[in-house]
Amino acid sequence: MSGGALKLRDVRKLAETRAAFDFELPVAELPGLPVELLAGDGRVQVQLRFGREQGFAIAEVQLRARLQVICQRCMGPMPLAVETSSPVLVVESEREAEEAPAGWETFLAPEGRLSLAALAAEELLLAVPIVPLHGADSPCTPTAARANPAAAQQAGTAPDNASARPFADLRALLERGGKDTK
Ligand SMILES: [Zn+2]
Repeated sequence: MSGGALKLRDVRKLAETRAAFDFELPVAELPGLPVELLAGDGRVQVQLRFGREQGFAIAEVQLRARLQVICQRCMGPMPLAVETSSPVLVVESEREAEEAPAGWETFLAPEGRLSLAALAAEELLLAVPIVPLHGADSPCTPTAARANPAAAQQAGTAPDNASARPFADLRALLERGGKDTK
């Protein structure tokens, strides 16, 4: 089915025939996913139900996936189960997206064509946390934390600061160094 999932299909036809699809494919075959999500051999089960509502083509997208992501605290591997189900309004242009009723998630299908894989990929991305972190049920990998003390130190702080910190430390070091040589 993976070849069929990548095929471009006519949205109006999908909506009018209330097309339904059930398939499974490797996460690596979903287009446009960041490389962080492609580690391991995760697979995603996809259920799509097309239809029409208020004149718009809609798709009910159901996903179930077991992924392997990288914890941004200890940089160790972390299994991530994703289960999501949401209605999506399929639009053919940015203009149509603006006219969409409020509260709907939209998916842009240029020229009224979409691939099932692209639709599934976008929904999967929305369901995955931007900064995955180990939780109470699966604590951080101690060895990985030791190997990366900076990451371990940042445990509990906002991960957004992680990239700024090394430079702050470096500047402090440089300033100290400058004074010492005087
Ligand atoms: Zn962790």
